[in-house]
Amino acid sequence: MTNKSCDYLVIGAGVIGLAIAREILLNNKTSKVIIVDKETEVGLHASGRNSGVLHAGFYYSPDSLKAKLTVDGNRLLREFCAENNVPIKNVGKVVVTKNAKEEESLKELYRRGIENGVEIEIVDKQQLKELEPRAKTHEKALWSPNTGSASPQKVIKALEKDFLKLGGEIILGQSFVKKENNNIVLSNSVISAKHVINSAGLYADKVAHKFDFGHKYRMLPFKGLYWYAPNQTDKLTRHIYPIPDARNPFLGVHLTVTDEGKVKVGPTAIPALWRENYRMLTNFKVQELLQVATDLPKMAFSPHHDFAALLKQELPKYSRSYLVKQASLLAEGINVADFNVRGKSGIRAQLFDLKQNKLEMDFVIEGDKNSTHVLNAVSPAWTCALSFAQYVYEFMKEKQK
Ligand SMILES: Cc1cc2nc3c(=O)[nH]c(=O)nc-3n(C[C@H](O)[C@H](O)[C@H](O)COP(=O)(O)OP(=O)(O)OC[C@H]3O[C@@H](n4cnc5c(N)ncnc54)[C@H](O)[C@@H]3O)c2cc1C
Repeated sequence: MTNKSCDYLVIGAGVIGLAIAREILLNNKTSKVIIVDKETEVGLHASGRNSGVLHAGFYYSPDSLKAKLTVDGNRLLREFCAENNVPIKNVGKVVVTKNAKEEESLKELYRRGIENGVEIEIVDKQQLKELEPRAKTHEKALWSPNTGSASPQKVIKALEKDFLKLGGEIILGQSFVKKENNNIVLSNSVISAKHVINSAGLYADKVAHKFDFGHKYRMLPFKGLYWYAPNQTDKLTRHIYPIPDARNPFLGVHLTVTDEGKVKVGPTAIPALWRENYRMLTNFKVQELLQVATDLPKMAFSPHHDFAALLKQELPKYSRSYLVKQASLLAEGINVADFNVRGKSGIRAQLFDLKQNKLEMDFVIEGDKNSTHVLNAVSPAWTCALSFAQYVYEFMKEKQK
């Protein structure tokens, strides 16, 4: 067993852990900052398995942290990418409607966008055709010019490089096991840390519980599947999104254009049976299955969500043809035959409030002078990783006063 000591120990080398660790070094050049991750590479979970959409920030309720952090996060990530040679594709996004009722929700998204300081416009059918000839809508659509695309893998590799350049250290292939006073016991070593930051994604609740935080929460995993259309000749030029169901924190199946111009459909939001339930029996844990089996019925009887509707919408999306058919409501020329390459699935670490039987819609951060816990870094936390890191840094400083 090796023993090390540091000022800050970050658990989890996803985009959030790396961004927070980098932010600490940007502010305190001489601090000793170590990141530890159970995997042998950085970003192997949500941070490397997401849609890669740089959100603009119009979905979120104006009083939310998501609203506060996304506009700045979008700008900061663009600046970071420019400085680190990570390409960004400025595709923009249209949000389209299927009926008159959705036109009302479109106005609400527009109102939120304006309140959140987002550049956004309501366009008619003719303007929509000029923006994206294949997009379909009932009457009006939303146009968001600041929504873009970048490669999640390139972003996380650039963050890793920058953190190491600033003098940070990353220990891979070791899991957080437990805390013994100031000593953090990993699977193969012990690290003594003055402050611990928990950004363990799908396991952030479990880590927090060991520090006596987040007891009212448990993670509920939701799986996102994608399909690519590699040979489509008449390619889409913009992201096309539906109107989301406001009762759930998911955005609905959409068509996106990657940084390399590839078109994909997804992600689904299917309840996963265990936390890293990517394919078949990977990382199967019976205890997690039992917890999911306990928590999903709580969500089913909760007044906060329409779980039956969620299941009805999501479960059929295991079928590629059903999924693509849903996407064909958004644009012309969307055919099942074209979407024939499966993308890497991702799993959302969605926090569930066990007292209120409710999915948390906003980011949740808890902590004291010894530790900080990032508990619900769901979308758009990839977009706002850098502003999120600034926020967490200020949060930590406040607690350490
Ligand atoms: C399908 C999907 C699509 C999405 N699309 C978008 C999008 O287009 N735009 C956007 O802004 N956001 C999107 N998101 C959200 C975004 O991906 C996440 O908000 C972000 O990646 C969260 O980063 P993280 O660092 O908190 O988590 P993670 O990337 O999951 O990192 C957590 C890390 O902790 C490690 N870890 C866990 N337990 C332990 C332990 N005990 N010991 C040591 N290490 C541990 C894991 O190995 C992992 O590397 C999407 C998410 C999903 C799942």
